[in-house]
Amino acid sequence: MEKISIENYKGIIWDLDGTIYDITVAIKKAIDDTIEKYNLTVNRNEIMEEVAHLIEEIQNYPVPKILLNSYDLLKVNFLEDISFFKKIRTAIFLFNQFNKYKEAESTIFEGIDILLSDLFNKKLEMAILTNNKSQYAEEVLKKFNLTKFFSIIIGFNDVSEVKPNPEGILKILQKWKINPSEAIFIGDMTTDIEAGKAAKVKMVCVASGLAQKETLSKHQPNILVDNTEQLIKLFNV
Ligand SMILES: [Mg+2]
Repeated sequence: MEKISIENYKGIIWDLDGTIYDITVAIKKAIDDTIEKYNLTVNRNEIMEEVAHLIEEIQNYPVPKILLNSYDLLKVNFLEDISFFKKIRTAIFLFNQFNKYKEAESTIFEGIDILLSDLFNKKLEMAILTNNKSQYAEEVLKKFNLTKFFSIIIGFNDVSEVKPNPEGILKILQKWKINPSEAIFIGDMTTDIEAGKAAKVKMVCVASGLAQKETLSKHQPNILVDNTEQLIKLFNV
């Protein structure tokens, strides 16, 4: 298996949800509840990534923006062929179920805290780049005692364009004063892969559960691993 020689790098940028913080259980449960309540004929595992993107957008937009954009927001495959009104009810139910499960069911991926600590001790700069609010990232990091490892946290509120736009990555590199070739970006979604490639950093993708590996593979990250365990082995610290 491929290894990353960390002496070739100065900084690592991390996505949060699905990469460090495991929200897959909450999303799975919310989808299962929604499929049952609305008799949807969809396959849960196939719609995880689409649902994750939808939830991300809904939780970050102010209500007026959601209302104005609801027609486009709900143009998702898993809500195809149903009336607009029912789409709204289904999406609201899904979102509420997700919020109900999120706090209690979500935790950090096993071993990720040790990897972060080891990389930090090797004097690598580390940052969080999330399409969520930076305040949300701060709260999650604090809850799991990870705050000390990160010199920069960037959320959707700190950039004009979120991932897949590379703006957040480039902003972090500029603050660190390092080149793209000296940085690694680790994420779990196709939007992460596109952002990493556009920023020309080393893009490591972990298929931790939200997006299907075949989909991620089509977007051609530099390295694609199956799970956190493989990600840890990749670094060999
Ligand atoms: Mg993610």
